[in-house]
Amino acid sequence: MSRLVVVSNRVGPLNDTGRAGGLAVALVDVLRKRGGLWFGWSGAVSESGTFGELQFAEDDDVSTATIDVARVDYDEFYAGFANKALWPTLHYRLDLTDFDRRLAEGYRRVNERFAARLVPLLQKDDIIWVHDYHFFLLGDYLRRAGVNNPIGFFLHIPFPVPEILTALPNHQAMVKAMLAYDLLGFQTAAHLSAFERYVLEEANGTRGEDGALHALGRKVVADAFPIGIDADAFAGFHKTKEGSKNLSLVRSELDDRKQIIGVDRIDYSKGLPQRFMAFERLLQMYPEHKGEVELLQIAPPSRSEVRAYKDIQESLEGLSGRINGRFSDLDWTPINFMSRSFPRRSLAGIYRASAVGLVTPLRDGMNLVAKEYIAAQDPEDPGVLVLSRFAGAAEEMTEALIVNPYSIDELAEALHRAIRMPLDERQHRFDLMHKKVMTNTAGAWAETFLDRLTTLNADAQGLNPAYLN
Ligand code: UDP
Repeated sequence: MSRLVVVSNRVGPLNDTGRAGGLAVALVDVLRKRGGLWFGWSGAVSESGTFGELQFAEDDDVSTATIDVARVDYDEFYAGFANKALWPTLHYRLDLTDFDRRLAEGYRRVNERFAARLVPLLQKDDIIWVHDYHFFLLGDYLRRAGVNNPIGFFLHIPFPVPEILTALPNHQAMVKAMLAYDLLGFQTAAHLSAFERYVLEEANGTRGEDGALHALGRKVVADAFPIGIDADAFAGFHKTKEGSKNLSLVRSELDDRKQIIGVDRIDYSKGLPQRFMAFERLLQMYPEHKGEVELLQIAPPSRSEVRAYKDIQESLEGLSGRINGRFSDLDWTPINFMSRSFPRRSLAGIYRASAVGLVTPLRDGMNLVAKEYIAAQDPEDPGVLVLSRFAGAAEEMTEALIVNPYSIDELAEALHRAIRMPLDERQHRFDLMHKKVMTNTAGAWAETFLDRLTTLNADAQGLNPAYLN
């Protein structure tokens, strides 16, 4: 089997599944199976930046190789183009974009530098898998450097319809670079179809008989590969020390009350203000829930160097304070807003103690919390998942209460229905979703993607040779 080379912005950790995200766990598993190298950013900013020494670590058959970035790279590439241009555009938030060309150039430069540092580490038979919106251009730079290996790319976040993407000033260069990959993976059929529409309508491309897309002088195979979680491990987390401690703590705090749980990085794509307002509307519309139901929102801060993230944090603090001021009683506070993170083992206990999982992003590639909430439930007495139609997970988790996260009234009604849902209906919905979560795991997802890339390679059908244009 060929050695696997994974490229992603953040690398590792190679150990500790309770802390690492599900993706890291899946990638470590598949890297261990095949033997491999994981290449990316060290997480550090230094003077030498991408020109500094490579940092290597090893664990059995898996090695990691990371490089630093310079301050200007961090500002222009990571905090800049990636998170001020690509992230908002791909999440349909053109109002929050900054399309400064300096940032776009920083992004291009860092992609080129990462490719240049990766090339000497590559071996002839490697299969290369690049992840996410930080590295749309990296495959193209590898090709320009003469790399002929199969290269796949998976986009973890949404791909928007052409009407949105074309607002990105360098959209054509970006999509042309994406066509340097052999296989493009998207989270959902909807994201895939948005990409296909761009290629066919905007780039005047065609679809070959083999299903591959041809455009701008290149060829690519694109498909949907919905990502899963490390379901078996996650389902057992509530039994671990941290998981069970949190489970009983929350249960005893709740007493007879019911808890609605939300777990999201603080991000404007997550629909958090609408969620708080919907909870307020619930208490207004159905006053019988006062004193009976509470909302726990766990919201670790992220990307706080970007203005829009500070703004959303402040607005959430204001909203939760106002709602609590309005409804709290001596023995009950409606919203518990915690701007901190928990390890995933602890989250599992908290999910299990919660009667409703509230996952209402305005746009989300997949949303793993939705799947984790299901994996953590007690099959004898499962909670109810309320899920935004704009989360990628809604394509699979059709038995959730699917909601429009922009409609505060609809959200409030769905919450009421979830809180009052009888056991047999809860179980029925849970059983169907649970099966999917336990089958389409992160491990299965990685294997499916890599099998497809390997098959393309064997057929030599989908592959782009190295080129110089
Ligand atoms: N997460 C965590 N601790 C927290 C909050 C979240 O470990 O305090 C994890 C969560 O369990 C999930 C991931 O972060 O695995 C969030 O993934 P998701 O797809 O829901 O959203 P993203 O943050 O990638 O947009």
